[in-house]
Amino acid sequence: MRRDPTSVPSVRPTARLLALALSMPLALAAAAAAAQAGKQPASPGPASSGPTGAAPTSRQPADFAACLERLRPEAAAKGVSLATFDAQTATLMPDMGVVASLDAQPEFVTPIWDYLAALVDDERVADGRAMLAQWAEVLKRVEDEYGVDPATVVAVWGVESNFGRNFGKRPLLESLSTLSCFGRRQSYFRGEFFTTLKIIEEGHVAPERLTGSWAGAFGHTQFMPSTFMRLAVDFDGDGRRDLVDSVPDALASTANFLRRAGWNGAEPWGFEVGLPAGFDASVAGRRNKQPMSDWAARGLRRVDGSALPGGSTPAALLLPAGPSGPAFIVTRNFDALYSYNAAESYALAIAHLSDRLRGGGPFATPWPTDDPGLSRAERRELQTLLIARGYDIGEADGMIGKRTRDALKAEMALLGHESDGRAGQKALAALRR
Ligand code: CA
Repeated sequence: MRRDPTSVPSVRPTARLLALALSMPLALAAAAAAAQAGKQPASPGPASSGPTGAAPTSRQPADFAACLERLRPEAAAKGVSLATFDAQTATLMPDMGVVASLDAQPEFVTPIWDYLAALVDDERVADGRAMLAQWAEVLKRVEDEYGVDPATVVAVWGVESNFGRNFGKRPLLESLSTLSCFGRRQSYFRGEFFTTLKIIEEGHVAPERLTGSWAGAFGHTQFMPSTFMRLAVDFDGDGRRDLVDSVPDALASTANFLRRAGWNGAEPWGFEVGLPAGFDASVAGRRNKQPMSDWAARGLRRVDGSALPGGSTPAALLLPAGPSGPAFIVTRNFDALYSYNAAESYALAIAHLSDRLRGGGPFATPWPTDDPGLSRAERRELQTLLIARGYDIGEADGMIGKRTRDALKAEMALLGHESDGRAGQKALAALRR
């Protein structure tokens, strides 16, 4: 089902699933970047295999009830007590919206510079530094036990749930039972459904606290239930592994995930580099690991002008926007971040945020565009300006969805600008005028 080069299971089934789950179109760039790199981003596959129908039909409640009846002995065989199964499914109703989400195709591919501009903005850096201070003692103990530094753990937290502010609102049992009975990949989601019941049965998280993305990722770390079972830890010592209401459990679980994915605390994730003139970019690619000293011999230097560390550490050259954009040398620690969500742009967002949390600045090399992306504050400003011009796009929440893009496209046309609805610096400047 999933080809994982690191052989470490991803937290979630796919970056695309997550992006859709969080209504976070910007995150689609992750999967898009993965696809461009020729990878199989752990995706459930194209929708062409035929949805079983996201539109409600009168038969659905009966079909759902019959399905639950079939799942009952299967759950018992997987170790879920019938008492738990019956209690937790008695009032369940299917949510066909999640089947629609499973089959949704990205309508808008987000450039990597838009993706990073929103995920690593000044606001998230400031919030992350506040979290580093607030949880310093816990983060120190997490580092002692798992060998993952505070900035890296907090960066994952910031990208996954905006430091616990965005868990997703869909009840897990509802989403996962629906996906167990309708649509593609039912057997995968049944496993997650049964595991969710076991999480409840073991008392780790109360059922009403188990909300998340439509695909079932939940809590501070947005683990899927199966990832929870494998890797979540009880760090505050209350006997429960609680990724929803215990920040210490969540931070330690993230570190445990990264350690199990091969994180080496003695190495950096990598760093930005400059390429010598005439460099042959065909050697780029995360999987093309060479000794660090080989990259130094090819003339690569860090962007501050200093030499690469040298030595035999396996390292790869990453060119997320081609040879004319920022270039990075990445170690196996980058692969550990990648395994969290199987997308290079996602791993780069976490890596870069961790550097910013340590006091580092923006990338030295600009993205190859004359129309850079917007921070979340700038996205909210753009939306506020559209609302002031009479567009009904809902709340100015910084999430650029279809309504914002449609409004932007219409307004840009009125102003005489070509626009496909992308919210970039040029569009914001035009609206400010
Ligand atoms: Ca606990």
